[in-house]
Amino acid sequence: MDLLNKLQLQLAGLEEKSLIRKRRHVETPAGPRVTVDGRDMLCFSSNDYLSLAGHPKVMAALQEGVDLYGAGSGASHLISGHSRAHAQLEERLAGFVGQHLEAPRALYFCTGYMANLAVLTGLAVGDKDTEIFSESLNHASLIDGARLSRTTVKVVGHADVASLAALLEQSTAANKIVVTDSVFSMDGDLAPLPELLALCERHGAWLVVDDAHGFGTLGDNGRGALEHFNLRSPYLVYVGTLGKAAGVGGAFVAAHEVVIETLIQRARPYIFTTAAPPALAHALLASVDIIESEEGRQRRAHVQALIAHLKASLKLKRWQLMPSDTAVQPIVIGDNAETMRVSAALYAQGFWVGGIRPPTVPLGTSRLRVTLAAGHTMDEVDRLVAAIHVLEEQS
Ligand code: PMP
Repeated sequence: MDLLNKLQLQLAGLEEKSLIRKRRHVETPAGPRVTVDGRDMLCFSSNDYLSLAGHPKVMAALQEGVDLYGAGSGASHLISGHSRAHAQLEERLAGFVGQHLEAPRALYFCTGYMANLAVLTGLAVGDKDTEIFSESLNHASLIDGARLSRTTVKVVGHADVASLAALLEQSTAANKIVVTDSVFSMDGDLAPLPELLALCERHGAWLVVDDAHGFGTLGDNGRGALEHFNLRSPYLVYVGTLGKAAGVGGAFVAAHEVVIETLIQRARPYIFTTAAPPALAHALLASVDIIESEEGRQRRAHVQALIAHLKASLKLKRWQLMPSDTAVQPIVIGDNAETMRVSAALYAQGFWVGGIRPPTVPLGTSRLRVTLAAGHTMDEVDRLVAAIHVLEEQS
């Protein structure tokens, strides 16, 4: 059988299991209300938690960034693509989250995916001397980073602190790296970071925290999960993404300056790629200003109020709201096809709520992933809740 036939069979297999993914076309700035393929929709599926992607100040800063620095960077960071905007952003971010770290420095990456690959491949020095302990629900980019590091990887059960303690106890590796999402992207729950960090400190292990869904949304000042849990340690390596709550794109790693210098010198996902357009970094300076400001605080407070309202008003019988206090509020339906039918029925009524299926989530736990954002109103949440109630009744 030739390759095309094989690929076609594979695709047909996905279609049969209701696992084919489709893309739609958004025609307006990302936000709570978008036009999609010509239709006005309420969007409950984006990670733009603070609704900054369409914020006038962030958009204006992006335009200003283009005037200052042009459309693209022209080269990788170590050749000629590193701009003053990148450097300013890195300094700003190091200052923003630095109180939780020792000798903090930050490094801006094109995407969170690449930042995670870079951290795990960059820290795994000496290969045989290093072991990675990876949470079972970690994001795909951490899983791939652990694989690419070519070190021993031990998968630890979800939020299973006791198992991690046992594994660290048994380990004879000189370098130990524990890696976890802070907010689990498809479940919305928080990792027990204080317990994990205490264990790491006891065993001289490093703790890599992927705060993709926490940066900007958690903590009084939006500094993320480390602020939320009031953590500080020389053993922390922090990854924040900037395409979600920060509303633009890219990611950063903040850690001890020696870790960051190591990434600059050694991490292939940093070295061998064109630097992100400097205008993005310039726009992100405006995002961080908003995140840290009173306006940012108010946006976070509104998201919290929406979360409480959704949880109080959703009364499900067979479907299940997962235990989450974050803006990620998944409703588990179970079956792939039913999940996609419900998602399509909501879509037909003007609610865009993504259906999440395996392999993104375990088999039999397909779900609607409802996400809330600062730009949503209580009334919009009420309308979504009412539509979900009717669909559950009918299913
Ligand atoms: N980590 C987590 C937990 C994520 O959810 C994501 C994005 N879905 C990433 C990393 C990757 O970030 P980016 O989208 O910036 O590549």
